[in-house]
Amino acid sequence: MSSSILIIYTGGTIGMKQDPVDGTLKPFDFSQIHEEVPELGKFNVRIDTYTFNPLIDSSDVEPGMWVSLAELIQENYDDYDGFVVLHGTDTMAYSASTLSFMLKNLSKPVIFTGSQLPIGTLRTDGKENLVSAIEIAGAKDAEGRAMVPEVAIFFGAKLLRGNRATKMSSDSFDAFDSPNCPPLAIAGIDIRYNPSVIVAPSPGSLKVQLKLDTRVSFLRLHPGITPQVARNIACGEETRAVILETYGSGNAPSKPWLMDIIREAVDMGKILVNISQCKKGRVNMDLYATGRSLKDAGVVSGDDLTPEAALGKLFTLMGLSDNNSWVKSRFSEDLRGEISK
Ligand code: ASP
Repeated sequence: MSSSILIIYTGGTIGMKQDPVDGTLKPFDFSQIHEEVPELGKFNVRIDTYTFNPLIDSSDVEPGMWVSLAELIQENYDDYDGFVVLHGTDTMAYSASTLSFMLKNLSKPVIFTGSQLPIGTLRTDGKENLVSAIEIAGAKDAEGRAMVPEVAIFFGAKLLRGNRATKMSSDSFDAFDSPNCPPLAIAGIDIRYNPSVIVAPSPGSLKVQLKLDTRVSFLRLHPGITPQVARNIACGEETRAVILETYGSGNAPSKPWLMDIIREAVDMGKILVNISQCKKGRVNMDLYATGRSLKDAGVVSGDDLTPEAALGKLFTLMGLSDNNSWVKSRFSEDLRGEISK
């Protein structure tokens, strides 16, 4: 059963090769991908490519690019069995997280990948990542349904849910992990899928949410934080939602001024959510008094969301509605497998 895949190249290290004249790394013409990666010819898969213009270092990614990406997937949805998004590693987890919330009722794979070394260099990890991502994007079960109808990141040897993944290393080939969620698949001699983790597609046709509201700020608690800094972030006029990055299982310093600022922000009608600075484990605001006071003040638990997923979820939910109570209640729900049961 052959498949058709659209490779979307947005930029990043993967699509670069060394200029033979000056030795610098430059993006190569992705329509020539078959010349760079002749292994692609061995696939029984139709591969088309789409190149973003301009190509970006992913540190420059903006929500507008996510909108373009979602629109592109929507326009091409019926023509392909899966999508591979080539993306810089630095913000890949942000893009994959937000896209997972923008694409509702997804029944086809959207697999992000990239590399630490450019595809045109000898020891590149890019070829293997690309080849495996294509294989996964085209993989179907015995009934012809996509094996991974999710937004995911393939990197190193692991396929991770996009909204669970985070970049863990700036130099290892094993750069991503999803500490609170097992991999959706592991690539060894074979690609071993983990069907008990993969989310089954919801019934209904693809719905794409293109409106994002980006009025979100992070307030990372730390010893020595001052009332001025905390108030500027939490109570700023421009902020509609604040992601509190707390300690351990969702705890904050018990200083009265901090609770006053948090109550002030809640009274201003802002959405305050609580995620942990720990990469593993979850927020439980009933465990310690310092967490309970946040809950009593009206802070919503972010459970075991990654910062990237919390941001993308708020952007999308706030884009859907001006009603903050509605956003808060949807935020607590598991929408795309981003929260553990
Ligand atoms: N700075 C690059 C980027 O994120 C790094 C990479 O591609 O891995 O675009």
